[in-house]
Amino acid sequence: MHKIDMDLVEMTMDVMKYVIDRISNTQTTINKPKKAEELKALVGETITKEGIGGEKAFNLWKEYLTKSNVPIDHPRHLAFVPASPTRAAIMFDLVTSASSIHGAYWMEGAGGIFCENEAMRWMVSLTGLPEGAFGVFTSGGTAANLSAIVAAREYWRSLDVVNENKKGLVITSIGAHSSIKAMAKVADVEILLVDTEDVMTAEALQEVIYNLTSEERKRLFAVVATGGTTNAGIIDDLYGIGSLCEREHLWFHVDAAYGGGALVADSVRHLFNGIEKADSITIDPHKWMFSPYDCGAVIYKNPELAKNAHSQEGSYLDIFKDEGAHGFNPTDYQIQLTRRVRGLPFWFSLAMHGTDRYKQAVERGIELAQIAGEMITKMDHVELVREPSLSCVLYRRVGWEPDDYTHWTYENHEKGFALVTPTKWKTGASFETVSRFCFINPDTTEDDIEQILKSMI
Ligand SMILES: *Cc1c(COP(=O)(O)O)cnc(C)c1O
Repeated sequence: MHKIDMDLVEMTMDVMKYVIDRISNTQTTINKPKKAEELKALVGETITKEGIGGEKAFNLWKEYLTKSNVPIDHPRHLAFVPASPTRAAIMFDLVTSASSIHGAYWMEGAGGIFCENEAMRWMVSLTGLPEGAFGVFTSGGTAANLSAIVAAREYWRSLDVVNENKKGLVITSIGAHSSIKAMAKVADVEILLVDTEDVMTAEALQEVIYNLTSEERKRLFAVVATGGTTNAGIIDDLYGIGSLCEREHLWFHVDAAYGGGALVADSVRHLFNGIEKADSITIDPHKWMFSPYDCGAVIYKNPELAKNAHSQEGSYLDIFKDEGAHGFNPTDYQIQLTRRVRGLPFWFSLAMHGTDRYKQAVERGIELAQIAGEMITKMDHVELVREPSLSCVLYRRVGWEPDDYTHWTYENHEKGFALVTPTKWKTGASFETVSRFCFINPDTTEDDIEQILKSMI
C-alpha cells in the first residue's frame, strides 16, 4: 500500500477509536472553557506551511482542546437545553460527512433527501397538520423561525400591493425565545410582546390586537406562539390562539424548537392541541429528538407559500430545477442554498430504534422533571417556583440572593460535578433569580438530581 494510504488508514482507525470511546464513556467530567491565550500557550502554532501532521494535531485535540469543551450530553448537564444524541445518529453523522452530499437539490442529493423526508413525514404526522403539510431540516430553530417569518411576510405582501412598502408587525409573548426578536430584526419586522412569561392566552392576544391603531392592525401579519418555552417549558394556548388567527386572517407560527419533541409523548400531547392549526412550526431534532448538532426543522401547512418566498433564481441553478423538478428541493423552503443533509443522522437513528424508543426517552425526561419536583417539595431548603412543565423545573433555594446561585453554579462546574445555571422568572413587574433544570438525557439518574439538590444545603 502507498505510504499516504497507510497513514490514512491509521488515522481513520485512531479517529474511530476516539469516537467509540467518546460515545461509550458515561463517566466524563464536565469540563470548563480556558482562555484563548491559555489554549494557544498549550498547543503553539497549529497552522504552518508544512503542516504539523495528523498525529500531532489529533494529540493536541485529545490532550488539550477537547478538554476545553463542555460535554452537553453529560447526565448532570441540566443547563440551557442540553442534548443527548443517540450513538446511532452520531455514527451516521460520520457517514453523512463521508458521503459528500449536496443537500440543496434532489438532482444531487436524492438518496439523502429521501431519508430526510422519511423522518420529516414522521415529524409532520406528530403535529396533526392536514394533508400536504411538509417541512425541511435547517441548521436550527433560529434558521427555522427566520424561514417561517419570511414566508409569512412574503405571503402577506403577496395579498395586497400596498403591503409591499410596509414594515410588517408580528405579535408574540415575553416567553418567546430570543431568536424570534433577533430574526424579526433580520427580516426588518416589528415585534409586539404580550406581557406574560406564563401561558399566552387567546384573550390576552385579542386584547393586544384590539388595542392596535388601525395603521398597526394593517401591518400585523403573524402571531408566534411557543410550544414549550425555553425557560420554563410552558405551552401557550395553541387552540385558542390558532382559532383567533383564523378569524383575524393572521399567519400562525408555533415555535416548538425545544418542546416539539414532546409531541410524541402521550402524557402531554393534549397540551399541544391546536398546533394542527399552525401555518408553520419549528421543531429542533437536536434538542429533544436526540439528533447531533446541528439539526432544526421548519414545517409548513402549505409548503408552496414557503417556496414562493425562498426559491432561489440564478442561471447556474436552472439545471437543477429541470432535471431535479421531479423531486423535493430542500433549498426552496428555507433560507439556505448549499446544505448538509443534516436530517440524515436523525433518520438513521429513527429507522434503527423505531419511534417507540423516542417516545420512551422523551417520557423519561418528563418523568425526571416530575421526580425532581417531588424531591424539591420534600426538602426544606428548596421550593418550587411553579409546577414542572414538560422537562423544565424552576425552583428556589430558600434565602439565596442572585450571587449565591452564581457562586453555586461556578463551584459545581469547577469541580466538574454538574452544570446547572440560574435563570430569571418574572412575577408581576419583578424578576426573581431562581435555579432551573432542563432534562433531555434519559440517562440522568434520580441520584444525580438528589446530589445536585443536596449540594445547595
Ligand atoms: C433553542 C430554541 C430556539 C433556537 O434554536 P437554535 O437551534 O438554538 O437556533 C428557538 N426557539 C425556542 C423555543 C428554543 O428553545
